Amino acid sequence: MAEVITLHRAVPRGEPFAPVIPGHNKVELQLFTTLNCNLKCTYCSAAVGDVLHSQGHVEYSLEDLDRFIETHLKDYDVYVTFYGGEPVMNREFMQEVMQRHPQFRFQLQTNGTLIDNLPEPVLGKLSNVLISVDGGEHITDHFRGRGVYRQVVKNLGKVRGSLGGSTTARMTWSSPDTTFEEIDSLLENFDYIYWQFMQAEGGYDPEGMEKKKAVLRQLVARFFQSTDELYPVIPLMGIVRNKVRPDILEREHGGYSQCRVSTHIINVLPDGRIFPCPDMAWAPELQQGDLRGNWLTKSPLQPRPEMPCHDCSAFGFCRYNCMKNLYRGYIHGDNDYRVNVVEPICELVRFLGEEIDRHNPAEWYAKASETVRAEIESCPVYEYVEIMP
Ligand code: SF4
Ligand code: SF4
Repeated sequence: MAEVITLHRAVPRGEPFAPVIPGHNKVELQLFTTLNCNLKCTYCSAAVGDVLHSQGHVEYSLEDLDRFIETHLKDYDVYVTFYGGEPVMNREFMQEVMQRHPQFRFQLQTNGTLIDNLPEPVLGKLSNVLISVDGGEHITDHFRGRGVYRQVVKNLGKVRGSLGGSTTARMTWSSPDTTFEEIDSLLENFDYIYWQFMQAEGGYDPEGMEKKKAVLRQLVARFFQSTDELYPVIPLMGIVRNKVRPDILEREHGGYSQCRVSTHIINVLPDGRIFPCPDMAWAPELQQGDLRGNWLTKSPLQPRPEMPCHDCSAFGFCRYNCMKNLYRGYIHGDNDYRVNVVEPICELVRFLGEEIDRHNPAEWYAKASETVRAEIESCPVYEYVEIMP
């Protein structure tokens, strides 16, 4: 098993030699360019605690950003994700950061409706674009507004030739009516699919759970159909990777949560406050830094004994999945959320693991082509998403 590299940084506040960014030498700097958005998605997590629209502009200067990077991230391989709100609404800031730090890698997390407003040089420097959808046209428009899905597909067609890297559909999977065909067809427009289970509309009732399991079964069967051609669905790729190559899980994530919130993601709000999870800026106790104050401490969003993971059959490949969910359900004491969201999602994760095991992933991996194995082991998109659903 590869050695886990632990780096130490001096920080103005917090323990002087605490491993502020543990795990390895990479860090994702997720910059909220604005909290404004041009859509009104019904479930928007940024709307929790009135975060959405609360900060329209970046309040720190580019010099503040440079100083923070120089103090805390100097020796790291930094990759930036532009996030929001809708980050393209502040494209000037994106451009300025790219010009100031051309050595970084860049990703955009967007709703896709304004991406065609970005100039060619910006598009060319994006190594991945994560576009939020909810499934196919019908479900996406149901949550995001009429015509949004077609607008996104049209925009993708316009910018695809100018993009520096891949496109990934980031699907929030909440509806029990999402079908296999709908998910599969996203690959007509995207290079990869990543999905995350969300709070389900109407809750996770037994019928809805069975429907989701049926779709998962189809997805897993499709994934294992070929050893020569990859089915580019990130959660399936990531779980298979974690099962057949646990050494990589330890090396790349220090054995922690795949979403990086316990290790190497830094979310900077427009006002400069820093949080480990982009969905939890409403919880002041989780603030881990301030860009204008130039301080950073280790993520407070860490595994805790109250969380049920160590006794879970999925732990070997799951590793705490979503720390926000575990925090809300087991630390914050939101029992409704635990029963209606966290526990059903954990059941789906365990089901997915069992379904993958039924296809003997180790045997499949042994037979897979070199190209497929390389993608399973180190697909660059793993660095930008949570991997676990
Ligand atoms: S499925 Fe749930 S309980 Fe099990 S390891 Fe994952 S997050 Fe923890
Ligand atoms: S998966 Fe990670 S980053 Fe995403 S909401 Fe959960 S804790 Fe936050």
